Amino acid sequence: MPTCTGCSCLCPDIVIKDSKVFNACRKGSSIFRHCREKRAEPMISGKKVDFGRALEKASEIISSSEKLAIYGLDTIPLEAQGVAIKLAERKKAYIDDNSSFCLGDFVEMILKGILPTTTLDEVRSNAYVIFYWGTDPYNSLSRHLSLYTYYPRAGKRQRGYEEDRYLVVVDVRKSHTAKLAKKNAKFIKVDSDEDLIEGFISTMDGKAGKYYEETGRIIKKMQRGKFNVIFGGLGLKYGLNGNYEKFVEMVKRMNELTQVYFIPAGFHANMRGFNELMFEKTGFVNRYSFEFRKSAPKYEFSELVRSDSIDVALIIGSDPVNSLPFDVVQKLRKKRLVLIDPKFSLTSKIAEVVIPSAITGIDQGGTMVRSDGVKMKIDPLWEAEWNDESILKELLEEVR
Ligand code: SF4
Repeated sequence: MPTCTGCSCLCPDIVIKDSKVFNACRKGSSIFRHCREKRAEPMISGKKVDFGRALEKASEIISSSEKLAIYGLDTIPLEAQGVAIKLAERKKAYIDDNSSFCLGDFVEMILKGILPTTTLDEVRSNAYVIFYWGTDPYNSLSRHLSLYTYYPRAGKRQRGYEEDRYLVVVDVRKSHTAKLAKKNAKFIKVDSDEDLIEGFISTMDGKAGKYYEETGRIIKKMQRGKFNVIFGGLGLKYGLNGNYEKFVEMVKRMNELTQVYFIPAGFHANMRGFNELMFEKTGFVNRYSFEFRKSAPKYEFSELVRSDSIDVALIIGSDPVNSLPFDVVQKLRKKRLVLIDPKFSLTSKIAEVVIPSAITGIDQGGTMVRSDGVKMKIDPLWEAEWNDESILKELLEEVR
């Protein structure tokens, strides 16, 4: 069965029949339906060339670079990510992905054993209290609630959301997911995530802190449920602003009373795969310099561009012109850019070289890591002549 790589849910149950796509959400369905449209073509300085010439030029540019950054990588399989990491090491380059401004910090805490975690399959079978904290899966991970968390009847939770789940949505506004929080559910509107964390800790200390009514009721529900999970998103990350200690303490204290796990929610299909490969190799998950053998905020791709620390950027499976801040894009235009991407994009308009690649799950297969750390084997619908792995292997061979 085809797998959708539209987001970190990696839905494995997609059915395609008579050109119709079944089971996918609107975003996933559109990926399959429009997979042949707006495909990138091999280009040098805006002119179409043959594939071999684009590859040759890319190799020349990368070989001549003195300060190379490799960026993107979250939509390609582990096999291709591994080759990109080798290329970065060979060139003593910087390497980074979206996780440095997305949920990489949480993935790192999980990989270091600071936050306890579980799998989505365990959540489906066992979870009672399900937190969505600073994330709106209704829009960003459309099938998360129905496949794995709130709605399924499975394992010990055969009575579904009507009786066997308790949904807690924490957000600064009444998101679409928060609107679902009616029966057996609670929406907590926060101005400060830290206040709510303090509230939970006060309740566990037997004191009445801020949000004491909500925190008291939720702690009781968690003790009753025995298996509970917090899905944390970008709202939580930016709400905590790098100060994770209290949050970690709260989760630890909750685990003295009941079982609580953490899973990061909402990112690109294989962001966690890149984080895991990097962690295995370097002990860090992102924004890494192979020259200085360390990770630092100043090695985040945006910062490298802002500070003019690079002369060439190799961008893989990403569209930074569309996603990074305007001042970064203005500076990026002045760098030599090599882009490997399956689709025509704003970045392909400014790249010196464009090498067309394949879409994972459509015309290339491989392995990806779901948001909960489970490795997924992705079969393609058909095989493209060139894919991310073969392109990167060719560059690795040619680049000096
Ligand atoms: S939820 Fe994500 S993986 Fe699943 S069909 Fe939608 S876009 Fe694809």
